[in-house]
Amino acid sequence: MLDDKDRIFTNVHGFQPWNLDAARKRGDWDNTKGLMARGQDQIIEDIKASGLRGRGGAGFPTGMKWSFMPKEPKPGKPSFLVINADESEPGSCKDREIIRHDPHKLIEGALIAGFAMRARAAYIYIRGEFIYEAKVLFAAVEEAYAAGLLGKNAAGSGYDFDVFVHRGAGAYICGEETAQIESLEGKKGQPRLKPPFPAGAGLYGCPTTVNNVESIAVAPTILRRGASWFSGIGREGNKGTKLFQISGHVNKPCVVEEAMGISFEELIDKHAGGIRGGWDNLLAVIPGGSSVPLVPAAQIKDAPMDFDGLKALGSGLGTAAVIVMDKSTDIVRAISRLSYFYKHESCGQCTPCREGTGWMWRVMERLRTGEARVEEIDTLLDVTKQVEGHTICALGDAAAWPIQGLLKHFRPEVERRIRERGDDSGAYMEAAE
Ligand code: SF4
Repeated sequence: MLDDKDRIFTNVHGFQPWNLDAARKRGDWDNTKGLMARGQDQIIEDIKASGLRGRGGAGFPTGMKWSFMPKEPKPGKPSFLVINADESEPGSCKDREIIRHDPHKLIEGALIAGFAMRARAAYIYIRGEFIYEAKVLFAAVEEAYAAGLLGKNAAGSGYDFDVFVHRGAGAYICGEETAQIESLEGKKGQPRLKPPFPAGAGLYGCPTTVNNVESIAVAPTILRRGASWFSGIGREGNKGTKLFQISGHVNKPCVVEEAMGISFEELIDKHAGGIRGGWDNLLAVIPGGSSVPLVPAAQIKDAPMDFDGLKALGSGLGTAAVIVMDKSTDIVRAISRLSYFYKHESCGQCTPCREGTGWMWRVMERLRTGEARVEEIDTLLDVTKQVEGHTICALGDAAAWPIQGLLKHFRPEVERRIRERGDDSGAYMEAAE
């Protein structure tokens, strides 16, 4: 279990004010100028050495991502940092806690990360529904400007840097980095084909890096405490601390910072008050937000909660949005509801996703009610494989994986429904005769 002294987010529950004075008392904005004086290349090396992997779901090494940005921006092509605060994955609710209660960690991180990648400005793209959070963020950015921490000669570093907050309109797909860039440019939020990657041609055709809120917010503390402190927590390839968001059938749902690699059992017992009705009542867990495949109870209990531990179980850490389902859950209905979500959020650009998500949802509904024929299970599985990996962005995969997870682990339950429905209708027919 993570020691209190190793927590980065010391106000994640909002027991103290979010404002600049309180943030400074928590250690934020402490000698930011000194951190920047290390130089851009050294900051990137430090973040690489810390082992930080992106906290938005994909887990790409953050320092390496920053190093893709040009060292000498071309005239007329400034570099930009875009911070993804669109947090729309069902189950995910960590970035909003950072913004509500600790916005200065994010703003200081924006300056340092932006400086490291030689960016002219950062755009924080915040989800439209986060009305209170946007208010806090606007006010915190204003405070930072008033204190000379942003703008010309930001934090006395000699570097000019601006931070703009942009409110989205609530489309899930705008959480995808290139759709987010399109949306920032004032266009319809639809993912772009890659390449070119944003580091080559991103916002307004300029070099851009898109990072998740948590990845940016942890950067100043890593630099202050040292890369080896961060890399001393967790397992090889899965370093540092992470905000876990535990929801569903636990006694005390919560957002909590823990060491990467903590076991699922310890995470739930220590922080979420255990499973509702006890461990024998656990049915399955979606460990990383709705797009990752579920893991059945028997496999998840001892699993290390990190990228590699969950990958080994055929699932993923994603955003560490842990959705716990006990035996009262209608698991087929739960996954069908997620299928509906992805159908609704498809941007419609590519055929496998536009047509496939709707088709998969309709078959999921037939499986839920037991109206389908047993052969349709394999057809559905086949269609998920045709959607997965055949689309412009990862929404196609996100729609396919929950269904694959369901059929891998709960196929007998799906078949039982079909059989029982068949038996029932048979009995009904007999009674009618
Ligand atoms: Fe749009 Fe879906 Fe294609 Fe992504 S996969 S670009 S959401 S249609």
